[in-house]
Amino acid sequence: MEKLFDNTEVAFALKSNSELDRAFYLFEMIKREPLVKIGTAVTKFAIKTHLPVEGIIRATVFDHFCGGVTEEDCMPTIDKMFSKNVHAVLDYSAEGKEVEEQFDLAMEKTLNTIKFGKEKESLPFAVFKPTGFGKFKLYQKITAGIYLDAHEMVEWKRVKERYNTVSKVAYEADIPLLIDAEETWMQTAADDLIEEMMKKYNTKKAIVFGTLQLYRWDRLDYLKKLHKRAKEQGFYVGMKLVRGAYMEKERERATKFGYKDPICIDKAATDKMYNDVLTYMIENIDDMAVFSGSHNEESSYLLMNLIEKHQLAKDDKRIWFGQLYGMSDHISYNLAKEGYNVAKYLPFGPVRDVMPYLIRRAEENTSVAGQTNRELELLKRERERRKI
Ligand SMILES: Cc1cc2nc3c(=O)[nH]c(=O)nc-3n(C[C@H](O)[C@H](O)[C@H](O)COP(=O)(O)OP(=O)(O)OC[C@H]3O[C@@H](n4cnc5c(N)ncnc54)[C@H](O)[C@@H]3O)c2cc1C
Repeated sequence: MEKLFDNTEVAFALKSNSELDRAFYLFEMIKREPLVKIGTAVTKFAIKTHLPVEGIIRATVFDHFCGGVTEEDCMPTIDKMFSKNVHAVLDYSAEGKEVEEQFDLAMEKTLNTIKFGKEKESLPFAVFKPTGFGKFKLYQKITAGIYLDAHEMVEWKRVKERYNTVSKVAYEADIPLLIDAEETWMQTAADDLIEEMMKKYNTKKAIVFGTLQLYRWDRLDYLKKLHKRAKEQGFYVGMKLVRGAYMEKERERATKFGYKDPICIDKAATDKMYNDVLTYMIENIDDMAVFSGSHNEESSYLLMNLIEKHQLAKDDKRIWFGQLYGMSDHISYNLAKEGYNVAKYLPFGPVRDVMPYLIRRAEENTSVAGQTNRELELLKRERERRKI
């Protein structure tokens, strides 16, 4: 029997023949690990030395994985996606500039998205990442239990104010806010701050969402404890689930400093953790809301089955499927056609500043366990179907 995600006609309906070709050759390129390694090194060098590489990056990886440089650039893509019932999460993906003006700018971008969201049904969420709103070092010190000096305390107060400002505006606009997760050695500070926001703004439903990276073996336990506190204190838990994007870095650091690796022992253990947490959340859906951020077919089928098993509506507003723009359209568009809630992260920002994001995507698609071969296979089948 043909499975839902096998339908490439639905998956790629929005792609012209030439866009289909570009995607095919792009994944053919990033499939090759040495090429990505060399490409990454050359790009980093070129960006550092201000060589004019933006044109080539734009025409290849950038246009495939990003909506544009500004919010306005993204609008045609958002409208196109929404014509197929796929929503967008505008994601200002500039990284690496650790100055107050940049943190304020990131906050403005998130506030803007909330404003857009009030006007456009196609934009049901806003998003930001913790280090977009404050210095990595501050989160790291707090996570490690190290006291901040007077200057740092002032900076941290501003970080908290940024979280509070966007959470409050999201609450007033009734637009849920997704907060990403990053490295374990800074994440506890972010988690604690996010819980404070949940306590304050998730009193009627989940507005503020944290993120659980399920390559971490401690996350089901963490969620159960958070759930208990939420029940005692009267707030809803909002969570985005992902497997996690920093595995190599995590393992390297644990080895270097000799502490227990925070990552699950193998891929199967990560998959089990993801599916266990997803199941726990649906079983307790009256206390929570879940955004399942995954390109894994099995986890996506599991969520469909759980919705059916618990007799929930496919478009229950507490349950969302999420993918990244430029990846796994066969999951997004087929789910949306069936009437499930689907949203794709749509990154935008200056080409140079979104490079760390693009490099993560290239690396993620290179790994053996990655999804490139599947993407290629699907693109190939659709090209054959269209007789390109
Ligand atoms: C909407 C959305 C939002 C996202 N937000 C975040 C975020 O906030 N923070 C973040 O870190 N990432 C985020 N990501 C990225 C996400 O973590 C990766 O896309 C994801 O890991 C890919 O996994 P998958 O569920 O698609 O499935 P798969 O392709 O089945 O899984 C691959 C993942 O499994 C894990 N894995 C692979 N090998 C092993 C191994 N040997 N041992 C243990 N685990 C292993 C790794 O996490 C790897 O990335 C987001 C992704 C989406 C779609």
